[in-house]
Amino acid sequence: MAKSIAIDGPAGAGKSTIAKKVAKELGFIYVDTGAMYRAMALFLIRNGISADESEKISSTCQSAEISIGRIGGEQVVYLGDENVNGLIRTEEVGNMASASSVNGDVRKKLVALQQKMAKTTDVVMDGRDIGTVVLPDANLKIYLTASSAVRAKRRYDELTAKGETCDLEAIEKDIIERDYRDMHRENSPLMQADDAVLVDSSDMSIDEVAERILELYRER
Ligand code: C5P
Repeated sequence: MAKSIAIDGPAGAGKSTIAKKVAKELGFIYVDTGAMYRAMALFLIRNGISADESEKISSTCQSAEISIGRIGGEQVVYLGDENVNGLIRTEEVGNMASASSVNGDVRKKLVALQQKMAKTTDVVMDGRDIGTVVLPDANLKIYLTASSAVRAKRRYDELTAKGETCDLEAIEKDIIERDYRDMHRENSPLMQADDAVLVDSSDMSIDEVAERILELYRER
């Protein structure tokens, strides 16, 4: 039976950085499910569909050929045979992913793909519904969070380091709105699974959080 660690939590809590670190330490594969929702969003945008056309999203998502591969240890998302990693981190795709991920048909398709991957491979999988829906029997479930102020400051520092000018208050407002959308949607809302361990990273370094998760995993 393949082993799995599920890491859920709001945007900007540090899930991907930490999940990658934990996966490397354990020799598991890191699976970024947000990237799959982003690839689906790109596919929908390319098909001229807008965020409010839920029926079109339901029908069009069926023909998206999304798959996951690895290049040099990094996850690669393919649409058909096109590597779309370089195209899915834009604001436009992020907004469409957030909007189209409320669609039950989109979720059904991507959840099936995620479950199939975890069946045969040891994974650290991050997202919003991994512990609650995708991997209800995960060996360890983590709900990773941090205050919205801390998450906004991290994002601000990231953007500033890239030389972009940005507004801390606007970033925090955006984070609060996205949290609300993720937590209040009808399909698979973001929430802590009953058996998940809550880790608040507000006052912890990346290494401390990763170490805590490894400790929890080894205790089991
Ligand atoms: O994590 P990331 O920001 O890349 O995810 C993009 C969008 O996909 C999020 O806004 C979230 O609403 C959605 N998502 C989801 N379920 C997941 C992973 C991501 O609904 N398991």
